[in-house]
Amino acid sequence: MPQTILTVSYLLASMLFILSLGGLSTQETARRGNLYGAVGILIAVIVTSLSPVVKDFSLLMPAVLIGTIIGAMLAARVAMTSMPELVAVLHSFVGLSAVLVGIGNFLQAPHGVVGAVGGAVGAASTGAVSDVHASAFSAMTVIHDVEIFIGVFIGAVTLTGSIMAFGKLRGSISGNPLMLPGRHWLNLGMVAAALWLGFLFVESAATGVDPFAEMFAFEVAPGLVPLLVMTAIACVIGVHMVMAIGGADMPVVVSMLNSYSGWAAAAAGFMLANDLLIVTGALVGSSGAILSYIMCRAMNRSFISVILGGFGTGGGKPAASAAAKGPVGEVISVEAAEVAEMLESSKSVIFVPGYGMAVAQAQHPIREITDILRKKGVNVRFAIHPVAGRLPGHMNVLLAEANVPYDIVFEMDEINDDFPDTDVVIVVGANDVVNPAAQTDESSPIFGMPVLEVWKAKTCVVLKRGMASGYAGVDNPLFYNSNTRMLFGDAKKSIDSVLRALSNP
Ligand code: NDP
Repeated sequence: MPQTILTVSYLLASMLFILSLGGLSTQETARRGNLYGAVGILIAVIVTSLSPVVKDFSLLMPAVLIGTIIGAMLAARVAMTSMPELVAVLHSFVGLSAVLVGIGNFLQAPHGVVGAVGGAVGAASTGAVSDVHASAFSAMTVIHDVEIFIGVFIGAVTLTGSIMAFGKLRGSISGNPLMLPGRHWLNLGMVAAALWLGFLFVESAATGVDPFAEMFAFEVAPGLVPLLVMTAIACVIGVHMVMAIGGADMPVVVSMLNSYSGWAAAAAGFMLANDLLIVTGALVGSSGAILSYIMCRAMNRSFISVILGGFGTGGGKPAASAAAKGPVGEVISVEAAEVAEMLESSKSVIFVPGYGMAVAQAQHPIREITDILRKKGVNVRFAIHPVAGRLPGHMNVLLAEANVPYDIVFEMDEINDDFPDTDVVIVVGANDVVNPAAQTDESSPIFGMPVLEVWKAKTCVVLKRGMASGYAGVDNPLFYNSNTRMLFGDAKKSIDSVLRALSNP
């Protein structure tokens, strides 16, 4: 394929990715944004496959085919509640590919080999290669080696960090932060060791003399050992970094790993001298960084304190011990028919969806209730907390899927002042995002996080199965308020019952 077609196609794909990001920023244009992204990536894959860098299709085609089949099957089967885990796994793939591309790219470059094997042969070859290296040594080589080192470092952190995030989101790893003694020193030590290895790597690769390689009884490319040791250290950093972050801070971790995966892809782009990969990686990296900032602001947390970990242990008590305080009063339960009566006699109603709505898949009957009430002149709106659910935009996606009109869906800042003038608030499987302790209880692990002030409404009905805590693992005093009514049961079944009562008065 001529270079001009490749360049123009890459430019087109880059533009489609930018349009895609723009489209994904609002619900009305999200589908279109998704389509732009899909077309962009299709162009990128086809054009790259046909470019001169690909010399052998016998490995590429089966890999593309197998990947496409697995991807299509996963996308078709994945439940909306498992999307966060899937996204975390996909981030880990980006990290893994950056590591493999980096190491493969390094091994492909004309580095010499050193080792004890063959004694004189090894020494002779080392000497010969180091001469070659000395002449070939240039600023460009050093820059390329630095690119490889940084790319592999970011990739390894993203790989293991995303695997840990997957475990935490799935619930197979505890959401409580792992507080190792002297953990900041441990992180600092690991980063210092990685920097030192980086220096050794660049020096060994440039001079062909690798102090580590001499220790092995087999031939090793100079610089490979520091690179691999750094990869192992970066993997530990990824594990430790995410394990130190407590449950309620996970939204920031998800967006942060999204950003890292972008930078890892950009680094792979530098290693492969692929402009499109650099642009795409930079777009994902910077948009992920902006999302992390938005998430931090939504939770009233500084990015640095999230990264350093330990949310739930600093000012407040650990999540587990706070939860262990147990229920703090009596709750008033209510039947579906009574909720239907309340709704019918109200002028304004706000639905607050949370993770439980995603689990129950209650969004469709909620939309039907919305239609009925709106026809009767009730002002029905939806309030979305930025970290509701388990993924940025989780609730917006579910409501859009159920065709809830966009103009009645409001962000927290837009609607929080309206709760005092609201007759009934229906909290559907939300917990942490409506917890008043975030404003009143300084010992609470979520103290300081902005929340939806649902308790200010005349009546607040909470739909959940039992008295379990939310993701942050803290008890919620909202449930014991005198104006709160608990409608126990699976949210879909409860909403179906309310719908039946509304439809057949
Ligand atoms: P929570 O996790 O706080 O609470 C969900 C509630 O839903 C639970 O208390 C549970 O109670 C209830 N529930 C579960 N299944 C059902 C069901 N089938 N029917 C009815 N109720 C159900 O959810 P929120 O949305 O309020 O808060 C999100 C939390 O997740 C925050 O702590 C946030 O930090 C965290 N998080 C968010 C991410 C994001 O990007 N948005 C990413 C990672 C974490 P019960 O079992 O009693 O029914």
